[in-house]
Amino acid sequence: MKRLIALLTAGVMIALLAGCRKQEASAQIFAMDTVMGVTAYGGSAEKAVKAAEEEILRLEDMLSRTDPKSQVSRLNGSDGAAVAVDEEIVSLIREAGTYSQATGGAFDITIAPVVAAWGFTTDTYQVPEQADVDALLAAVGMEHVTLAESQVTLERGTEIDLGGIAKGYASDKLEAIFEEHQVEHGMVELGGNILLIGSKPDGTAWRLGVQDPAKPNEAAYAAIVQLEDAFAVTSGSYQRYFEQDGKTYHHIIDPATGRPADSGLTSVTVVTDRGSGSGTMCDALSTALFVMGEEQALEFWRGSDYAFELILVTEDGRVVVTKGLEEALMETKESGYTYEIVS
Ligand code: ADP
Ligand code: MG
Repeated sequence: MKRLIALLTAGVMIALLAGCRKQEASAQIFAMDTVMGVTAYGGSAEKAVKAAEEEILRLEDMLSRTDPKSQVSRLNGSDGAAVAVDEEIVSLIREAGTYSQATGGAFDITIAPVVAAWGFTTDTYQVPEQADVDALLAAVGMEHVTLAESQVTLERGTEIDLGGIAKGYASDKLEAIFEEHQVEHGMVELGGNILLIGSKPDGTAWRLGVQDPAKPNEAAYAAIVQLEDAFAVTSGSYQRYFEQDGKTYHHIIDPATGRPADSGLTSVTVVTDRGSGSGTMCDALSTALFVMGEEQALEFWRGSDYAFELILVTEDGRVVVTKGLEEALMETKESGYTYEIVS
């Protein structure tokens, strides 16, 4: 009995010591054309953050559209020939294909040449002629992509752009790294792609601010939601755009028209619980549902097998939130938006 008590006490001591010495680590990384933040508490937080940085750079090397040495660039320059690539990228392309199919083509990584024609790949923006866009659209569609175990063939003229899914995929890889290093609380912010591990270290929920699309350069929020153990990904027309002749053109292209999606939305946030969905899923769906617009997006939400919730911000000043986030939603009175819960 005495021994048991001694053991118990030792157990408590270790727990207390661990409590005092909870590791904390964070890093800021510039990659994938955006600023990324990684923060971890508990477990081997320092190792986790280091590994996360390395992983982000590894993925950038593999998936970049602008680095001529990346596997994506090799595929895009293949001129119709089969190219040997890592199995990892084959399965990511395969997964992208499933989102394409599920969203009726609203999400489509083969939109790449059209994205480039608008100048979004190289930041040399221009409004292309519709005839040129139409010609490019002939090579858009996953039917132009053939996958083997570690080989990809793109038909001549077809290119891929994983920009609509890469950061979400990176957040999934970071989730695995944080788990491996027993991180207890953490936050990963990859340019609009959020991963939350546990609660905040003080035990309260993380507060996620949904950027007010009307004030892209201010700390202004259209909504705030309280979340734990979740992925949340935002796609918005305010994230990358240019102006010409008084008109604004943004970077999310409707594959049906080859033009920036004009769906009445200014941002779409897709939220899922860790375990129910992935960062990759949220990233693909946020892009796709932005293309679809409010009505179709809500219809998709109601009918989909994917487990997720939505925060839509509309051009006409509404924030539309699906039922599952009702409790989590903190309306921001100063925002000027009106709030609607839909089911
Ligand atoms: P961000 O990259 O700003 O986080 P998204 O996840 O919404 O935003 O992805 C937009 C990027 O995806 C574009 O910059 C482009 O590279 C690519 N893209 C644009 N339109 C589509 C589309 N309809 N389907 C798939 N990818 C797209
Ligand atoms: Mg996306």
